[in-house]
Amino acid sequence: MPLHPDFERVYTLAALPINSCRLILQRGGEVAVARSAERTTLPAHSDVAHLLEFALEPVLPLGKMGEAAYAAVSLPEGVELPSEYEFVDIRQLFGALPLEEYLIAGYAGQIRHWTLISAHCGSCGGTMSGVNKEWMRKCSGCGNEVYPPVCPALLVLVHDGGDGLLMAHKPGWGDRYSIFAGFVLPGESLEECVHREVLEEAGVIVNDLQYAGSQPWPFPHQLMIGFRARYVSGEIAIDEEELDDSRWFTATTLPALPGPLSLSRQMIDSWVNEVMGAI
Ligand SMILES: [Zn+2]
Repeated sequence: MPLHPDFERVYTLAALPINSCRLILQRGGEVAVARSAERTTLPAHSDVAHLLEFALEPVLPLGKMGEAAYAAVSLPEGVELPSEYEFVDIRQLFGALPLEEYLIAGYAGQIRHWTLISAHCGSCGGTMSGVNKEWMRKCSGCGNEVYPPVCPALLVLVHDGGDGLLMAHKPGWGDRYSIFAGFVLPGESLEECVHREVLEEAGVIVNDLQYAGSQPWPFPHQLMIGFRARYVSGEIAIDEEELDDSRWFTATTLPALPGPLSLSRQMIDSWVNEVMGAI
């Protein structure tokens, strides 16, 4: 689920009609919305302009989409919203906000996080300042340039070529199982990471890798990259520092699954649909 193709990123407030913006009001991992039975909406600038004096940082320009424009503002605890608005955890807004705005809110969180961690140069400690044509900051002391980080993480759906699905369970997940996940290491290709993660976590060997989609996961800056892989050999032997169970299920006997927001769930649903269609 990438940003809507019509969304045009901007990098300066001058490029936005700020007075007619919808604002992503952030408070930690929460975003302010108005909720009614019919819909969930982001605040218009005019509804919350009086709160901008409390902003923790300068207003962050985000972009334009059709007639709409978007900017983000980070607020501290204790600021009172107009009565029709409330702060809601961003993940709860999936399926509530229009998808394109939910994704803009995630993008806002990702850029906000980057502005916080790039205030000073990691090389010399100097002050970083932005440029106007892209998300890049440059150190006034040593010239070090930094860009928003994107951290690749893999999701691997291990199947047996039929209706069997090997799933993983971590402590604290309750009844829920999911597919395998892990971060790509420096120097590693995506394919190498698939083989390593599944072997490390479950002790099995896979092949027939198939790309299965990607999803920005802005908590704070992952990019999830999905693969299917077919089981080849090996008895299940879990990495007990990562998992507390891994076992086979079939398409008709799946346990509780991750929520519909995640690429992992979308990959499982897609696989189930294919398998059930083939039976
Ligand atoms: Zn520097």
